[in-house]
Amino acid sequence: MTQRIEKLRTALKELGVDAFITEKGENRRYLSGFTGSTGWVIVTKSEAFLVTDFRYIDQAKEQAAHFTVVNNERKATEAIAKVLMENGVKRLAFEGSVSFSTYQEWSRAFEGVEMVPAIGLMEKLRMYKDESELTVIREAIRIADEAFSHILSYIKPGVRELDVALELEFFMRKQGADSSAFDIIVASGARGALPHGVASDKVIQAGEMVTLDFGAQYKGYHSDITRTVAVGEPDPKLKEIYDIVLRAQLAGVQALKPGLTGKEADAVTRDIITAAGYGEAYGHSAGHGLGMQVHELPNLSAVSPHVLEPGMLVTMEPGIYVSGLGGVRIEDDCLITENGCEILTKSTKELLILPV
Ligand code: ZN
Ligand code: ZN
Repeated sequence: MTQRIEKLRTALKELGVDAFITEKGENRRYLSGFTGSTGWVIVTKSEAFLVTDFRYIDQAKEQAAHFTVVNNERKATEAIAKVLMENGVKRLAFEGSVSFSTYQEWSRAFEGVEMVPAIGLMEKLRMYKDESELTVIREAIRIADEAFSHILSYIKPGVRELDVALELEFFMRKQGADSSAFDIIVASGARGALPHGVASDKVIQAGEMVTLDFGAQYKGYHSDITRTVAVGEPDPKLKEIYDIVLRAQLAGVQALKPGLTGKEADAVTRDIITAAGYGEAYGHSAGHGLGMQVHELPNLSAVSPHVLEPGMLVTMEPGIYVSGLGGVRIEDDCLITENGCEILTKSTKELLILPV
């Protein structure tokens, strides 16, 4: 945590501010270790404060050992104003997630303090995963991989998408996940053409492909994996689509390395899918950063300016969606290393044809 604070202080110096405030859960936890649902982290040039209320004081002192915990007895804004005044803060950086009404309230209450927007500042720091984060992320991914192997024997004709989603979630939680990372996508048959087809009460039929997109939330971090499996022999057209997506996905992960831009990474997959005649059927970006949020920086998209660097964690998830027929998506979580990437998700990407 102290290293993270030092990196933040370097960024604050570049911004020319005396302090930074965040009320965002992920950033509060990232900087302080505090997991409570309410609190404000204030980092100055030499101090770090955590303002919270009586419900969380003991927890805050224990989790945020490097912070001075401030008990907000009346109004948070007053307690924050006091910290700012006592520490001589004249320029305060705040995040883009601060609501307009909070901004107005702070501007009125923090007398003599200039409010400086620091949009995306924490998100940029969080792009680089440290060792302790990677340990937790690897576990979140292990849980998702195990859940995938577990669910294979459960998927069969007659089972509802919802039941598959429930079983995945139940299994992941039994394996130690705090929750599912997001609403689980189970899209079978023609529903496979919906890239975000959250599990419905549709019953899975023989001959359908099923796209499963899910992940575990574990100790504040997320995994995110997609596999598409066939339930019995699928339509030859879908098999052909599967091969194209797999080729694009393999080329995509193969290309990931420091120096590559998000735009270039996206193009590697898009070129293959377009050349195969399905460019129009690949309507989303190739991937996204992953960590305390399921979607964070850097982006792998046609407009992404981000340059990959070691320590970044991204997904690689090309897909093809054909209305009325179905769809295929394959997604891995990849850690950018010194000379390439390490694919952290281990589940097989061969087309699995499940027995009916
Ligand atoms: Zn996903
Ligand atoms: Zn994803």
